[in-house]
Amino acid sequence: MRRIDFLQLGPMKPVTSNSADQPKLVTASAQRWDEFHQAMRPRLGATAKFTREEPLAVKTTIRIGGSARLYAEPGSVEDMCLLLRAAAAAGIAVLPLGRGSNLIIPDAGVEALVISMAHENWAKFEPRPDGAVWVGAGLRLKNLCGLAAKAGLTGFEFLEGIPGNVGGALRMNAGAMGGWMFDVVEAVQLITATGECRTLDRAAMHVDYRHCAELHDAIALGALLRPSAHTDTEAVGRQIDVYKKKRQESQPREPSAGCIFKNPPGNSAGRLIDQSGLKGERVGDAEVSPIHANFMVNRGAATSADLIELVRRVRARVRAAQGVELEPEVLLYGQQWKDVL
Ligand SMILES: Cc1cc2nc3c(=O)[nH]c(=O)nc-3n(C[C@H](O)[C@H](O)[C@H](O)COP(=O)(O)OP(=O)(O)OC[C@H]3O[C@@H](n4cnc5c(N)ncnc54)[C@H](O)[C@@H]3O)c2cc1C
Repeated sequence: MRRIDFLQLGPMKPVTSNSADQPKLVTASAQRWDEFHQAMRPRLGATAKFTREEPLAVKTTIRIGGSARLYAEPGSVEDMCLLLRAAAAAGIAVLPLGRGSNLIIPDAGVEALVISMAHENWAKFEPRPDGAVWVGAGLRLKNLCGLAAKAGLTGFEFLEGIPGNVGGALRMNAGAMGGWMFDVVEAVQLITATGECRTLDRAAMHVDYRHCAELHDAIALGALLRPSAHTDTEAVGRQIDVYKKKRQESQPREPSAGCIFKNPPGNSAGRLIDQSGLKGERVGDAEVSPIHANFMVNRGAATSADLIELVRRVRARVRAAQGVELEPEVLLYGQQWKDVL
């Protein structure tokens, strides 16, 4: 097989979309993605997954969107480093992927290297002698809750029912039932875009509503969490059941990406949408849930174009009826909402 040194590939050129020479440029770009893929595949560990044009819809909870030009599931820090350094040298954008529960993938897919934490090596749960717990970024929140309950550790129950993993919850500072992810974080280990590993204490991090500044351009590898107390397994299990029941009663069962809009200060996005008469509003197969107005659900074959149009319509109607500008909470993967709304 022909070996290509990624450092010789040069920066990726953006695909232009005007004029008759578009097919040629698209082919040229496809060839460069192929070259990067061929150059990197032999350098990665045997258990790492590394593919071209990986479909992403099935890796999200709302099941919408196209594929990733490049997709990797590295199984070690070394592989992660190799990928990040090669991507930086070639001018390729990198997008971390958790459980895809807060994402809308564009129909055309993403012009990037998507790095998923799905490899089992990132799903660790390790109680420490001082009472803290080390968790890998790929550990599902559901499993974190289950394992903590089994170990009699209380304080993480509010995360039950958030269908993400630890990495996604850190990046989004996920919150529910009055708690936020960073309430229980002591430190985060991350890897920068240039492949440097760092551990940051909670006090050095800038976190806010659905936001963590330090994870904008870095990938979380894991975190040290502090339970509020040691208690008995059954008490933790009972609290988890209370939260589970609350969600079952108030959230739709159809595929969704959770709450579409952030709550404006002192207000509820769901209530504003409901009061604007938008429950059941539909574009194609994208629908404002009749059960919870801040959820948009995929009724079967929704596209990201349908969903974006529905977001536009809901914002316009709420602005007109209530005088409030709603801001999306879900992320448009690889793009900015302001560029499409
Ligand atoms: C039914 C339902 C209920 C929900 N309820 C809640 C709720 O109560 N509270 C709440 O806050 N959210 C809720 N959500 C939204 C979502 O589950 C959270 O935002 C969750 O934290 C996203 O985690 P994820 O692993 O799916 O991340 P993804 O959706 O895969 O990614 C989200 C963002 O995090 C980035 N990211 C992912 N992994 C990493 C990493 N390791 N390092 C750095 N960045 C990373 C991605 O690039 C992306 O920018 C809900 C969603 C659904 C579908």
